[in-house]
Amino acid sequence: MLKNDQLDQWDRENFFHPSTHLAQHARGESPNRVIKTASGVHIEDRDGNRLLDAFAGLYCVNVGYGRQEIAEAIADQARELAYYHSYVGHGTEASITLSKMILDRAPSNMSKVYFGLGGSDANETNVKLIWYYNNILGRPQKKKIISRWRGYHGSGLVTGSLTGLELFHKKFDLPVDQVIHTEAPYYFRRADQSQTEAQFVAHCVSELEAQIEREGADTIAAFIGEPVLGTGGIVPPPEGYWPAIQAVLKKHDILLVVDEVVTGFGRLGTMFGSDHYGLEADIITIAKGLTSAYAPLSGSIIGDKVWKVLEQGTDENGPIGHGWTYSAHPIGAAAGVANLKLIDDLNLIANAGEVGAYLNKTMSEALGNHPHVGDIRGEGMLCAVEFVKDRDSRTFFDAADKIGAQVSGTLLSQDKVIARAMPQGDILGFAPPFCLSREDADQVVAATERAVKTVLG
Ligand code: PMP
Repeated sequence: MLKNDQLDQWDRENFFHPSTHLAQHARGESPNRVIKTASGVHIEDRDGNRLLDAFAGLYCVNVGYGRQEIAEAIADQARELAYYHSYVGHGTEASITLSKMILDRAPSNMSKVYFGLGGSDANETNVKLIWYYNNILGRPQKKKIISRWRGYHGSGLVTGSLTGLELFHKKFDLPVDQVIHTEAPYYFRRADQSQTEAQFVAHCVSELEAQIEREGADTIAAFIGEPVLGTGGIVPPPEGYWPAIQAVLKKHDILLVVDEVVTGFGRLGTMFGSDHYGLEADIITIAKGLTSAYAPLSGSIIGDKVWKVLEQGTDENGPIGHGWTYSAHPIGAAAGVANLKLIDDLNLIANAGEVGAYLNKTMSEALGNHPHVGDIRGEGMLCAVEFVKDRDSRTFFDAADKIGAQVSGTLLSQDKVIARAMPQGDILGFAPPFCLSREDADQVVAATERAVKTVLG
């Protein structure tokens, strides 16, 4: 076995880490944690530290770590058939079974699943299919996509553009022209203090209507959004937001893409976030929870309305010119089948709803009155604590103070609990595996209370 210091050197010399400060990492100033093994809600590093992962990796290991059922399914598939493509009508038992299992769980207007590898490529597929759709319908000018500031939809060219976080645009020449950003339904941060939630929703809707008017509805193809803003701060929408937005989209014949990469398969305590908020999607993006990250796999679930047009398009133009070598990779598909079975067998979605509500309630009880805690919010197994300099005037800390990162660092060093400092704001995010117990939740809350006290008094 390699010694840690050897790995550390090789890592800094050879490994280009995503979402990492490259210069600091090269200089050895940022942590270099080598994860070795994991079980349930805990991960273990090479130095023997056992950490409670209250963010499920990147909110993806939904069933928890070390599930032998999924590991066996992957091993069996690799032995029997590691790979075959899915072009020109080919498939495997695993990919066909998984597409049926997904459609059985999806809203009833959904028609087919296109498989990819991760959330970014799935959203890239969605944009391409939407452009194809409007070309087939003879509306070549109807191509722009509206997403929200603070939405997260990936880090490719189009998907990084859809992502409404400056960090993902800066120095990359993004966003591309076809993407427009609109107001985020982030009441705590974006509303005037005098505005009620209903007034703020009306503001979000009127901004959207004004943008559509300005651009021309005949140039706007789709609106993309996460049911609950995830990476942009774990922000559940205010009451009435989604129905009002959907009414505007319907009026202007704008498709709705619901990005369920985080919320799909149970994180809100319902199968999909679309079920939770009554969303009528035309396309649903899935990834993370589809395999609980035991293997890379994503999907675009295409609704009837879009599917019929795509089908008609290939009748006129030949096969659709869109495919990845690894679309519906058998190993990912086998992991997906085993994962969805496990979620059912262990009733994990109900647990996500129940323990998630408990986590949110106990977090609010512990920190709700702290002078530097401005907001505690969540839905299902998602929870966020947002820090403020002053509660009454709702003023925020300087970004340079990195309060969110200080609290998450302290949480880790003091009590070995992993939460995530969300980008752009002092927000501590929690998204534990669905198998979190009430005792685990108690531990997370107690540790968070201690970390907040250490950093903010
Ligand atoms: N959509 C959402 C809502 C996400 O949270 C993410 C990833 N955090 C993505 C898309 C992109 O997925 P990936 O990183 O697998 O490309």
